Amino acid sequence: MSNVKNYKTLEKIVSLCKRRGFIFPSSEIYGGFSAVYDYGPYGIELKNNLSCAWWKEIVQKREDVVGLDSGIFMHPTTWKASGHLDSFDDPQIDCKDCKARMRGDHMLEEFNINADKMKTEDINKKIKKLKEKNIILKCKNCGSKNLTQAKNFSLMVKSNLGSPTDVLSEDNIVYLRPETCGGIYLNYKNILDSTRVKIPFGIAQIGKAFRNEIVARQFIFRTREFEQMEMQYFLHPKIIQEKYNEWKKIRWNFYINYGIKEENLRWLKHEKLAHYAAEAYDIEYNFNALGGFKELEGIHQRGDWDLSQHQKFSGIKLDYTDPITHEKYIPHIIETSVGLNRMLLAFMHEAYTEETVNKETRVILKFDKRLAPIKIAIFPLLKNKLELVKKAREIYNNLKLEYMCEFDDNGNIGKRYRRQDEIGTPYCVTVDFDSLEKNDVTVRDRDTMKQERIKIENLKKWLKENL
Ligand code: ATP
Repeated sequence: MSNVKNYKTLEKIVSLCKRRGFIFPSSEIYGGFSAVYDYGPYGIELKNNLSCAWWKEIVQKREDVVGLDSGIFMHPTTWKASGHLDSFDDPQIDCKDCKARMRGDHMLEEFNINADKMKTEDINKKIKKLKEKNIILKCKNCGSKNLTQAKNFSLMVKSNLGSPTDVLSEDNIVYLRPETCGGIYLNYKNILDSTRVKIPFGIAQIGKAFRNEIVARQFIFRTREFEQMEMQYFLHPKIIQEKYNEWKKIRWNFYINYGIKEENLRWLKHEKLAHYAAEAYDIEYNFNALGGFKELEGIHQRGDWDLSQHQKFSGIKLDYTDPITHEKYIPHIIETSVGLNRMLLAFMHEAYTEETVNKETRVILKFDKRLAPIKIAIFPLLKNKLELVKKAREIYNNLKLEYMCEFDDNGNIGKRYRRQDEIGTPYCVTVDFDSLEKNDVTVRDRDTMKQERIKIENLKKWLKENL
């Protein structure tokens, strides 16, 4: 391990992601497009592995959760009912000198004032109080004290559909969903009526969400286009606390199970609760490269607010009749909500490791093997020895049917190992001259760098036991 403390810097992670084909800034050849990122060949593999892991835990392994894939565009009244059109705002403060934009709540947090979900007028009151104590907020960009008051800035991203599309009028405005759970509430009745689920049950969904974030920095931590993985669990209020504790445990254990150290996670209890919520916690991850613990996932109680609102605005009954007691009620909801991209950053941050080997720095992404983008890399020792290439290709063609593999015959073997270490490949299989005679290969372990000779006929079995 490197001796340098906090060697995991954002700069290094961003550079590795670009250099090794995980993540690219959007529209680079046009000068870039702020707060949107594109996922390259290894990035998409990692993202897919993470979403599959989440789906497996949340849907596949459970009898009481089913999946959904709803549209990004929804009836605009959805967002009136959910309160997003009236109050999905962040408090924006502008610098009058350099025009930089900042978030008032984040500026107050630097003075240890918890301004999470604080109303804009209260933020302005707090700023006034600080001023009375001669504490004046400064622009993060140029240091000027010449700032505007905080004002509401809507995070909703508008578009238009239908005709005419050249003018945004009340008739054609639609919104790109700011979270995926809206589609879950609107399909709750469809799923209840068309499948065998009974309360308590959950609906899970993975999909894109869009927010016009005021300040979207810190790489993929906060972007304007991102993917969410959300699960809404519908239940009778009398069991909410028991189930809430259960979901908190499930979500915490997910991170531990896939390789996050427990010391890098903590709970943040929401002090300010929405009027309908009895309890809300976030799981925070220690994003050292971003300055410390930050929200990774929210696990919140939502009362019966969502279904009641949609019942009110749609006029469609969304209550549930208990088949045994015949009690009629609007189900309450527990929500688990995480950004897939933010989760990817957490796992990338956790996996990033530097080691000194023969006085050189070796960079490794020590992903849990299930998450690694490429599971096995297959090399012929030399590119220009046809028999080696042929045998290596045969192995590659056989293994790729079961695993995400990569064939590489480029450069010396040491360089090829380093490249695979940097993308987190657990095993490298090399075909050398001995392989031709003994029908075996070397399998090199990413973490220990140890090499083992394995007979080709036993290779699949060995990999099955070790991957
Ligand atoms: P924050 O306080 O960071 O703005 P939030 O409390 O508004 O986030 P939620 O609405 O609870 O976030 O969203 C649930 C999850 O979705 C977050 O925990 C995070 O993982 C993810 N998320 C939210 N906004 C973004 C974003 N702009 N970019 C990436 N992920 C996001």
